[in-house]
Amino acid sequence: MKCDWKQSVKDSIVATEELAGRFGLDPAVLDPVNRRYPLRITRHYLGLIRQMGDPIWRQCIPDERELRDASALPDPLNENGLSPVPGLIHRYPDRVVWLVSNVCAVYCRFCMRKRQVGCHNDSTEASCFSAVLEYIRETGTIRDVVLSGGDPLLLDDERLSYILSSLRSIPHVDIIRIGTRVPVTLPERITPALCALLQRHHPVYVNTHFNHPWEVTPESSGACAMLADAGIPLGNQTVLLNGVNDDPAVMAELFRALLSIRVKPYYLHQMDLVKGTCHFRTSVEKGLEIMAALRGHVSGMAVPYYVVDLPGGKGKVPLLPGHERRGDGAFRLTTYRGEVVEYREL
Ligand SMILES: *Cc1c(COP(=O)(O)O)cnc(C)c1O
Ligand code: SF4
Repeated sequence: MKCDWKQSVKDSIVATEELAGRFGLDPAVLDPVNRRYPLRITRHYLGLIRQMGDPIWRQCIPDERELRDASALPDPLNENGLSPVPGLIHRYPDRVVWLVSNVCAVYCRFCMRKRQVGCHNDSTEASCFSAVLEYIRETGTIRDVVLSGGDPLLLDDERLSYILSSLRSIPHVDIIRIGTRVPVTLPERITPALCALLQRHHPVYVNTHFNHPWEVTPESSGACAMLADAGIPLGNQTVLLNGVNDDPAVMAELFRALLSIRVKPYYLHQMDLVKGTCHFRTSVEKGLEIMAALRGHVSGMAVPYYVVDLPGGKGKVPLLPGHERRGDGAFRLTTYRGEVVEYREL
């Protein structure tokens, strides 16, 4: 019998001793990192590690470099500043991001919300839900609500049902998107009951988060098939990560594999300049090189937009080969508002 997903979350690795014992690591190195940025790895995801230091390993095993990132800010995109009510980010006129959960099945070491994900705070407490819903109800320009977090699908079906039906009772909310990594990290979360629930609230889109071809497994493929069969269009957001997927051949293999499981590559994200993630950063040139290598060589359906999310919350800008660096090291980019800004790496 298939294991219950809540049990799988309980059974995931959260203790540094277990990790240290299994891989012969030093708990004295892991512990301080874990205290600042919590550890959690599901048995499924842990099972994808083939050897220490490999692309799966790097994404989930705490690294002391997370604590040695002095230059970067915890919230460079100013999400907290663009939050009209706690738990909601309203940056673009017609869409909002609602942080409905603070927890994930696996805590990715490169997470752009690592300032708060996995930490106990009040931003997602039930008491805020009514304030968020009221804001959305009163803001008639909002057509598109992105549920994010943390991972929305770590909420149970009852809570999700409440959120989805509340949103559906607001006439100007047109589409609902769910950003989730559970197809990759906790595929058993995608149950027939969950698919039926999502299907009752269409149009619902799911954007998942695969970063490496090894994450495309029979289990994650099965989870995506169930969602697709429920009529849910599936997109994928990949983060360009040093030592994980910063290679045109790896990316081509990943994006082809995603298309074959009915997941459309949507965004390839340049790493945000978030504190605690410096060892994952790549240059913009690397991303442009990957995009140039994909173009013409893989199905156009397999090619995502390569985007940089501009510091300060100015929005995402697609980067194309041809966006070259200027002599002073900056890129000159145009925001969705038409403002020309300079983008500099740290
Ligand atoms: C990425 C993002 C969105 C959604 O952007 P799309 O380009 O429509 O996918 C909305 N709000 C915020 C704050 C975002 O970061
Ligand atoms: S699943 Fe998403 S929100 Fe959760 S830790 Fe990973 S990147 Fe961050």
